[in-house]
Amino acid sequence: MTSQVLAVKPLPFPVDPAMISLALDQSFNAVLLTDANLGKDGQRIVYANPAFCQMTGYTQQELLGRTPRILQGPATNPDVIGQLRESLRAGTYFHGSTINYRKDGRPYTVEWNISTVRNAESEITHFISVQQDVSDLMAAQKSTQIFASVLNATEDGVVITNSRGIIEFANKGFEKITGYGLIDVLGRRPSMLSSGHHDAAFYEDMWGTLRQGNTFRSVFTNRSKNNALIHCDETITPLCNEAGEVTHYVSIFRDVTSHVLEASKLRDLVRYDSLTGALSRAAGELALQKAYMQSLGGKVPMSIAMADIDHFKQVNDKWGHSRGDTVLKAVSHSLIATLRANDSVIRWGGEEFLLIFSGCGLEQARPLAERCRDGVQRTTTDEVGQVTVSIGVAELQLGETVAQLIERADKALYAAKHAGRNQVQVSSETQAEYSA
Ligand code: GH3
Ligand code: MG
Ligand code: MG
Repeated sequence: MTSQVLAVKPLPFPVDPAMISLALDQSFNAVLLTDANLGKDGQRIVYANPAFCQMTGYTQQELLGRTPRILQGPATNPDVIGQLRESLRAGTYFHGSTINYRKDGRPYTVEWNISTVRNAESEITHFISVQQDVSDLMAAQKSTQIFASVLNATEDGVVITNSRGIIEFANKGFEKITGYGLIDVLGRRPSMLSSGHHDAAFYEDMWGTLRQGNTFRSVFTNRSKNNALIHCDETITPLCNEAGEVTHYVSIFRDVTSHVLEASKLRDLVRYDSLTGALSRAAGELALQKAYMQSLGGKVPMSIAMADIDHFKQVNDKWGHSRGDTVLKAVSHSLIATLRANDSVIRWGGEEFLLIFSGCGLEQARPLAERCRDGVQRTTTDEVGQVTVSIGVAELQLGETVAQLIERADKALYAAKHAGRNQVQVSSETQAEYSA
């Protein structure tokens, strides 16, 4: 028999049949040899290796001379057995899987292939079958599938990376939120979603937390596949093996974009004056405080200006309050357009604006104020036409409070009004003079 097997595929070296027998005895795979009787009684088992006996629970003696059909039972797939018979009859190679039963009646999932053994006349004399109990593998696959469907059932985005941050899994929620399918992200890093909105300190904090084995939670601002900004309330948790080494990171997140936008709209409502678009008085006071703190110690200069529309009462009186509002808006827009991005325009009172010139001493603040004045003068509105502003400028002195600085700017503004309006006056008082 062995020689006939060898006749099918001669080995390139002389083999003692005892060696083959030893190899079959030690094989992890179950090996079964049957004769080629395809009649009513079926093939008879002529050899079963120890792995086959262990898989089925039968001894070699119990198997010899019997049909492999003894392994079949109620859950054995008749279609697969039908295909198997077809292959045997045709003498072709077969590979399949179904449920078989052990001697004690316990079912197991078997995967097997069958090859034909032919004699010198090319007649089929035996079938040799190599089999494997794949029940554990199937169970593992099944539970993986169950986990994947649970993860896909949730609305939340779930993404799993390995310890090097390479994405190994992303669920349907991830696709719904980010627009990227699993196929787009496998093998890539979550940083592909980065919007550039978080600074180095944010990521240092994140990695610091994760390295300690803790969960990191934050609202991440990401970019979706269609390039839109998305805000995600996200937790990232490191998973460790028994040795305490991180094997994976699991990130679960929820799209909170609408809440974030709502909150930011609310913040803007408080932050900006609705009529003029300038900073509100409350937000302006904070901005002033911030600039003041930055320039404390005199390292960074800071100047402010107080701008007031000239003869605005007359505008209201002549054209009505509503046209007055339009003029107020136009003046504010002109001031905002003239100033640099890190300067601030605050609606300080009715038609009075406080300007913060960040990092500017008087020598820079004066021409900036002059440009503001000129800008307003060039701004005309329908019917009302041209209006002008008077501006008082003051630079923060050492030891001076914000209130004192504002008062000096106010005094300079008063001087500008007094000197004929539509002009810039600079407070020349030093703090020492002011206190005197
Ligand atoms: P001056 O050149 O001395 O500044 O003369 P003025 O008429 O502008 O005097 P003042 O600055 O005291 O005028 C403030 C006027 O601004 C009073 C008020 O009717 C008007 N005003 C304040 N807030 C608003 C507003 O929101 N809309 C309109 N239309 N007018 C406002
Ligand atoms: Mg005025
Ligand atoms: Mg005024």
